[in-house]
Amino acid sequence: MEKQILVRNYRIELDDSEHDPETPMLYYAKALIESDVSEVMPYLNTELNYAIYSGDKRFIIWKESGHKISLKPTEMSISKVSCLEEARYHARNAITRINDVWCRRVEIDTSGQKQSIPTPHDLWKLLSGKNCGLCGFKSCMVFAAELIEGNVQPEQCVHLLPDNSNHLEAV
Ligand code: SF4
Repeated sequence: MEKQILVRNYRIELDDSEHDPETPMLYYAKALIESDVSEVMPYLNTELNYAIYSGDKRFIIWKESGHKISLKPTEMSISKVSCLEEARYHARNAITRINDVWCRRVEIDTSGQKQSIPTPHDLWKLLSGKNCGLCGFKSCMVFAAELIEGNVQPEQCVHLLPDNSNHLEAV
């Protein structure tokens, strides 16, 4: 029997090590998902009005209630949360969406999917525009172009997908 609920268990962590200078009281949160959710990504990409998606690299990013939701196979990050409680709230909403899309996947035609690989400008629009250089590139637009080429990973942007585990990748 096929799984009807894709995400049952996850754990939320707040990353208070990364402060946005403009919004010092807001943090990233990370939901650690117990199982691989890659299979839902093409369905999400079809259902969402706007998303950045790469099937090859297995990530999808979209905005929900003003927060960036970045989903990788076993991890989801949520931008701009003020506390653990808020992180839990937005994670629950995103997980509900994921499970809902997964339940309806037989009705979702992914054959006419939106362009999976976005243009640099598409990616740039979802970056912070801070041009902080912490990714090793002088501007967000250059980073976006490198992302398209597959030379960098999205988590290398510190303002997009901070990696709580070690922050070693100048994310
Ligand atoms: S780290 Fe992110 S915000 Fe900073 S320049 Fe690179 S892409 Fe832009």
